[in-house]
Amino acid sequence: MYDVKSMCADDFINDDEIRDTLAYADAHKADVELIDQIIEKAKLRKGLTHREASVLLACELPDKLAEVYELAEQIKLDFYGNRIVIFAPLYLSNYCVNGCVYCPYHMKNKHIARKKLTQEEVAREVIALQDMGHKRLAIEAGEDPVNNPIEYILDCINTIYSIKHKNGAIRRVNVNIAATTVENYRRLKDAGIGTYILFQETYHKESYLKLHPTGPKHDYNYHTEAMDRAMEGGIDDVGLGVLFGLELYRYEFAGLLMHAEHLEAVHGVGPHTISMPRVKHADDIDPNAFDNSISDEIFAKLCALIRIAVPYTGMIISTRESQDVREKLLRLGISQVSGASRTSVGGYCEEERPHDTEQFDVSDQRTLDEVVCWLMDMGYIPSFCTACYREGRTGDRFMQLCKSKQIQNCCHPNALMTLDEYLEDYASPHTREVGRALIQKEIPTIPSQKVQQIVRENLDKIKQGSRDFRF
Ligand code: SF4
Ligand code: SF4
Repeated sequence: MYDVKSMCADDFINDDEIRDTLAYADAHKADVELIDQIIEKAKLRKGLTHREASVLLACELPDKLAEVYELAEQIKLDFYGNRIVIFAPLYLSNYCVNGCVYCPYHMKNKHIARKKLTQEEVAREVIALQDMGHKRLAIEAGEDPVNNPIEYILDCINTIYSIKHKNGAIRRVNVNIAATTVENYRRLKDAGIGTYILFQETYHKESYLKLHPTGPKHDYNYHTEAMDRAMEGGIDDVGLGVLFGLELYRYEFAGLLMHAEHLEAVHGVGPHTISMPRVKHADDIDPNAFDNSISDEIFAKLCALIRIAVPYTGMIISTRESQDVREKLLRLGISQVSGASRTSVGGYCEEERPHDTEQFDVSDQRTLDEVVCWLMDMGYIPSFCTACYREGRTGDRFMQLCKSKQIQNCCHPNALMTLDEYLEDYASPHTREVGRALIQKEIPTIPSQKVQQIVRENLDKIKQGSRDFRF
């Protein structure tokens, strides 16, 4: 039976509740009065339930959808301004004992070379990432208790934080590894991770069991309840995501929001981020084999609706998506993008892009300098900020600040100062010129005169060689 507070996945992601929700949404998809009420509620910026949001997802009335898109853009602006946080994935190991049918790292794939970075290789990758200008990483590894035990992941985190090359530093390591025990989550927390990210892949249990036929990941409940264990282990920033294309998107959307509602109901804090991946081509994987693939239009609709349903949750898009798609989704709600990503193990030190060992094909293959310039050309401020995590503003402390809009007083100046560091240390002459003009234009938009003054002083100090200023 559906119970948002239950600790059993079958109850908080309840199949009957999702089916009832979809039937309700179908029955009301042209109910203008109800749709208007839901949109009015969304305008309060307090979010929507999975049922309300599902009605909007089913709705096909052009004027109502136009209102939804406009509201998503407005909420994006209200909460995130014109800032976009930048990160890069770092693949540590592609050894994996699971059989996920959509991923080239599945155990039975004999085409790809298996590789696990040594600590020296991790250090080299980190130096290459620092030399691009990255400050925030998401580490990724397959599940393999022999090759990638938790001790290996912890060693890698230590190595990453220890490398200080020139003016570079990785200031936040987010972790995307398989579901694990409370004790292991506690060890990750103690190692100083930022967000723990685990994609659900699909909330449809029957499909999940078929798509994960072998390996520990086959256990749907253990996987789905991982965020509860992570929070019990003290990690209070967790990141959700489904792999759109595996199952019917409307089912996934309802499941995703139910998961967010569950975390809020039980732990008092919803997901820190939601990622938006879609099934992509890769070695041994043909996306056409999955008949639930979604169009760019539906993808945009999902993005806008997640934005208005969970306004305080960061939204992430990767280089799986093309520049065009990324441009559209940035407006509708995305707050973080990856840049210059390599999705192979050791990819940042290799001259050529090693297509045969990538986890998925990268559509957006531009350099970080090009991504930074592209964002600024569209009026965004690329941000390398990691301040909240380092000031201890995580979990409910972060959410309280966010809900009271206080966070706005930190993000904008932090974005400008971290962008300036990037321009000083890593940018091409053209990007530097564009960026400096943008920073000068943006400083007067900081509400507090005092903060403006501090930012100007810190920018001078950055020119003289100091780094790492933050509010
Ligand atoms: S999705 Fe993750 S767990 Fe599954 S095969 Fe790929 S690396 Fe392994
Ligand atoms: S101040 Fe906090 S919320 Fe704002 S960009 Fe920095 S880390 Fe993110």
